[in-house]
Amino acid sequence: MPRPIHAEINLAALRSNLAVARRAAPRSKVFAVVKANAYGHGLLRAAGALSNADGFAILEIDYAMRLRDAGYRHPILLLEGVFDNRELALAAEQQFACAIHARDQVKMLAELPAGARVDVFLKLNTGMNRLGLMPAEVPNVLAELRASDRVRAVTLMTHFACADDDRGIASQLQVFEAITNRESLPRSIANSATVLRYPRVRSDWIRPGIMLYGGSPFADVTARSLGLTPVMTLRSRIIAVQMLNTGDAVGYGATYVADSPQRIGIVACGYADGYPRHAQSGTPVVVEGVRTHTVGRVSMDMLCIDITTLPQATVGSPVTLFGDELSADEVASAAGTVSYELFCALASRVPVVERE
Ligand SMILES: *Cc1c(COP(=O)(O)O)cnc(C)c1O
Repeated sequence: MPRPIHAEINLAALRSNLAVARRAAPRSKVFAVVKANAYGHGLLRAAGALSNADGFAILEIDYAMRLRDAGYRHPILLLEGVFDNRELALAAEQQFACAIHARDQVKMLAELPAGARVDVFLKLNTGMNRLGLMPAEVPNVLAELRASDRVRAVTLMTHFACADDDRGIASQLQVFEAITNRESLPRSIANSATVLRYPRVRSDWIRPGIMLYGGSPFADVTARSLGLTPVMTLRSRIIAVQMLNTGDAVGYGATYVADSPQRIGIVACGYADGYPRHAQSGTPVVVEGVRTHTVGRVSMDMLCIDITTLPQATVGSPVTLFGDELSADEVASAAGTVSYELFCALASRVPVVERE
């Protein structure tokens, strides 16, 4: 038997989560965000299941090319725009819409070959202070874009820093409105958290990412209660069993010491598979359909779980690390991170099995 770890990707769940986004914003067109190899799910695999989206939003132009090469004619938005002239020429040729977040990118437009044109998503910095033009620059840049024969259409875009928590989007939205309320241009302002929490905010193109993959964008709201279905399930098996006496330790650094006799299952899954090394003792896992937890440090290829109260658990028992039986958000939170990072971390050595 090969090493028993694998990731299952549920394609029907991707379609179902896309439908949740559509229902939340029925008047918007949807850019399915597939950056970072579709949040670790595999770009072409995810794009196939999400092909009903109106477009794809992505970061890396070579991955955008993979979508075109695979035959996708959808609008494709480059979320950070282009990084040099060569990429801009390619974007024009392949009809990739380009975010423009800085003056340098505006200047590049002038160097496009005659006749080449691109769709522009002008990104405004409304308070997140990561990417985007400052409000004061916008009128001039908009005038420049309107005057340019290298620009086909302009959409106004921004991104919210706190859509997922109590502070919300009000202050950034106010800045955005103040700059854009006299413009009749289309807008794209909503990530997953905004789509789910502020469905009435106008966004002609929404940009859901994590919700498509079944993760909750909110720390305090479960994915299930949002109607989302897990897409990635990481599964493995117990490959050895150890009996600990009181005082015995397990794993690197001997960080976990048994305070009573314990049965420990050793699972073929470690941080080189993408499981977070920072997951503390007590991080939930499911064995033979029953919840238990990790003990000791996660090592590169293995982790240890408490099976003292699960006499049926033995070598070969199936273990779910996260996914359909156990929310990735919950595991991520026990490791001090978010499901985005768990999904993106899935290592290439882990075989993927697709489920319809
Ligand atoms: C990643 C990204 C998104 C998607 O965000 P989620 O929280 O995953 O929905 C939307 N817009 C931009 C600009 C992004 O970079």
